[in-house]
Formats: sequence, C-alpha cells, structure tokens
Amino acid sequence: TETDDPVRFAMIGLGWWTREQAMPAVAAGELCETTVLVSGDTTKAQSVAADTPTVEQTLTYDQFHDGEASDAFDAVYVATPNARHLPFVETAAELGKAILCEKPMETTVERARQMVATCETHDVPLMIAYRMHTEPAVRRARELLREGYVGEPVVVHGSMTEPILDLVPDPDQWRLDGDLSGGCAAMDLGIYPLNTARFLLEADPVAVSGTVASVEEAFADVPDEHATFQVEFPGHTTACCTASQNAHMSSHIRVTGTAGEVRVEPAFYPWDDRQLHLSHGDGEITVDFEQVDQMETEFEYFAHCVLTETDPFADGEHGLVDIKTLKAVYEAAETGRRVAV
Ligand code: NDP
Repeated sequence: TETDDPVRFAMIGLGWWTREQAMPAVAAGELCETTVLVSGDTTKAQSVAADTPTVEQTLTYDQFHDGEASDAFDAVYVATPNARHLPFVETAAELGKAILCEKPMETTVERARQMVATCETHDVPLMIAYRMHTEPAVRRARELLREGYVGEPVVVHGSMTEPILDLVPDPDQWRLDGDLSGGCAAMDLGIYPLNTARFLLEADPVAVSGTVASVEEAFADVPDEHATFQVEFPGHTTACCTASQNAHMSSHIRVTGTAGEVRVEPAFYPWDDRQLHLSHGDGEITVDFEQVDQMETEFEYFAHCVLTETDPFADGEHGLVDIKTLKAVYEAAETGRRVAV
C-alpha cells in the first residue's frame, strides 16, 4: 500500500525497546511516523525529540490522559512495564486511536479482558506486538507444517533464556517486580515459545502443567527466575517450554511430527540470523535466513491494517489466550496440578 498519509504514532514509554528498536523501525518504514512522545521523564523526551525530526509534541503521562495534542497522532504504541499497559490503552481507546500494545498485554487475566472490552466498546483496533509472527524463518516453518512436511505434529520444544541482571544490571528493575511484571521468566520469555508454538500449530492450548523456581535473592519478589511448562494442544500435541532470566542467552523452537521435524535456531532474539533446520526421512537440510527488521515489518503490517481498516491477526483475544495460559502455568506450578486453560 502506498499512501501520502502515514499513520502517526504516539510512542508511550521511552524505554530501551522503544528508543532502540521501535522508533528506528518506524523511521525506516513507509507507512508510519513518530509524531508524539509520551514519557514520565521530560528531559529524556526532549532529548529523544531533538533526535527525531518527525516529532511534533512531547507529553507527560498526565497530559496524555487529559487528551492533550490528541489530533497530532492516529495510533499509540504502548511499551511501558506490563502492569502499565491497560491505563494507556483505555485512554487511547477513549480518544478513538488505534493501539499497538507490547507483549505480554497485561499482568492478569482480568486486566487483559478489560483491555479487550475497552477496545471493543470504543471500536478501535488493538494489536499485541508479537514480532515472531513477522519472522520469515518462522513463517516458512508454518507453511511447511501446513503442507504436512512433518506429518502430524507430536511434540514442540521451545526455549528462551537470558541473564537479565547482566543485560540490565539494576536490582530494582520492573521485570523483577511481580506487581509491575505479572511474573518473570514465564511472562517475559516463556511467552515466546508458547505464542510461537500456537502460531506454528495454528491451535490454542487446552491445559498446562509446570514448575517454577526463584533461587537467587534478586528474584525473591517473583515466583519464576526459571520456568518449565508443558502445554497440551488439541489432538495430543504437546509443547514443552522452558524459560529462564538467569541463564546463558539462548533460544530455539522445534516441531517434531510423525514424519519429520522443523527447527528454528536461534529463534527469538531479534538480532540473530536465523536458521531453519529441516529433517524428513533420511534427509536433512539447513536454510539460512538473513536477519530482517521484525519491528519494521510489525509496524508496517499494523499501519497497513489501520489504513485499510482490516483486523490485525494478533488481536486482543489472541493476546488474552497467552495471559490465560501463563496464569494457568503459575497456578499449575503452585498446586502441582494440571490446569485447564
Ligand atoms: P524499560 O524498562 O527499558 O522501559 C520501560 C519504560 O516505561 C520506562 O523507560 C519508562 O519510560 C516507562 N515507565 C512507565 N512507568 C514505569 C514504571 N513504573 N517503572 C519503570 N518504567 C516505567 O522496558 P522495556 O523497554 O524493556 O519494556 C517495555 C515493554 O515492552 C514491556 O511490556 C516489555 O515486555 C516489552 N518488550 C517487548 C520486546 C519485544 O521483543 N517485543 C522486547 C523488550 C520489551 P519513561 O522514562 O519514558 O517514562
């Protein structure tokens, strides 16, 4: 789609992901531009604005909620800590704006449901920012699964791990604060193997079981420094997912079926060149995929949906399934029982 009028975004929360990934992606794309910055830190907002020629306004959170400069943007990108997504989505919906909200959409099933309901009431589009849906290696794996390359899928293995305190050396960071994050390894990282398994299998979870553990003092406020969970899909396909916020950085996902296997490795970090490993019968091949800017594709897709008034694929209901599933994982870990989703 070509248009003279790109979708104008208000970027809400100027954290590292917004500044280093989302804003450059918007600048590189054709269908989007950043016109408004919404931040609790006025000095930072002004300095980011000075580096971004398209920005017309900077707003505090209160000014945003008061509806100031609301004619300067058509859509919002919400990238605050998880427990701070809903209030911004509510205001944006009241203002009639299209909404792209970071994953996980919120911290509880109730708040995620409220988000979906608010957007329905105000009839505004809501998309949850699952960048793996844009990844060519994952999309190719999905096509192969659809064509029956692995036969019937039997088991999915997926994992995402990182040493969060080396990456963000701040013991007070929101990811380690249960109220702000809603959970640590499973909510922040486990969502990748879970959601990508759903995307690859084109199916939604039936039930889960799992275990979580927080060992180090830094993780005392969250149940899951590490998380391991098993997700049952219809037709006896099972996904075994692992996630850790205190391990070597690594990620992969593979689907093994009655006749073959597809594996994406590395899988979930945006800066990797991906490889798709295929095995079938006696044959084995590896396909290299060059790194693409997943965030650029994601913003362009979302803007295309807004401009053409089509519903985005990863809507609020899609995001809600992950929150229900992950919350069921915490319940399963606490009770030692299998929990239906
Ligand atoms: P950061 O901590 O780097 O940034 C969060 C920003 O939110 C802060 O800089 C701040 O912006 C704002 N904020 C508002 N309220 C608070 C608060 N109480 N405590 C701390 N910050 C607050 O986080 P990330 O950028 O890593 O994550 C933001 C969101 O994006 C999360 O939902 C996360 O899950 C998601 N994310 C998604 C990724 C993906 O691959 N799709 C990758 C990384 C994150 P300001 O100073 O401008 O007010």
